[in-house]
Amino acid sequence: MNIILFGPPGAGKGTQAKYLVKKLENIQISTGDMLRDEIKKESEIGKRIISYMNDGKFVDDEIVNKIIKKIIFDPKKKDKLIFDGYPRTLEQAKNLDLWLSESEQKIDFIFFLNVKKDIIIQRIKKRKIIEKRSDDELDIILKRYDTYMETTKPVLEYYSSKPNFTEFDGSLKIDEITSKINNFLKV
Ligand code: AMP
Repeated sequence: MNIILFGPPGAGKGTQAKYLVKKLENIQISTGDMLRDEIKKESEIGKRIISYMNDGKFVDDEIVNKIIKKIIFDPKKKDKLIFDGYPRTLEQAKNLDLWLSESEQKIDFIFFLNVKKDIIIQRIKKRKIIEKRSDDELDIILKRYDTYMETTKPVLEYYSSKPNFTEFDGSLKIDEITSKINNFLKV
């Protein structure tokens, strides 16, 4: 089963992805984590990534798509994909459709975790203390939210008309969201 977790930064996509990975024995595809790994490696590409990230901007589609393509065409990962933070642009969503069909896969469910800006800010401020992410400073959070709203709106429009799209209230507590997702999936 392939699932997309969709929603603004701080919506809880990563947290819910981890539960789904355990439950379904799937693999979490977090582009944010993968990009942070590149930064840790101090590679040339990592240096480009950090400048986008610390500016609250999306990383270039070219870099992100390269990472994702490799995963989609990996036979060991086939039909085990939990996308967390991808796709974020319409171009990425269209590329994903193309690569999934080329690899004879489909998206079974798109889960939209909808959360308002004030709750997101509170959550990310808390996460900053625990995880110490360099892009969790308040001004960067606000930029990330604005970038999300601008760039991701067409993606939301693209997915929301599909029959496999479901919206969840992302402002609920973590376990409440998890149980709503579990009930929905009947797992
Ligand atoms: P996240 O961990 O999902 O909140 O992502 C952290 C940052 O990584 C984002 O603010 C972007 O700069 C970058 N990023 C993650 N996923 C993507 C993506 N699919 N496309 C472009 N940039 C991304």
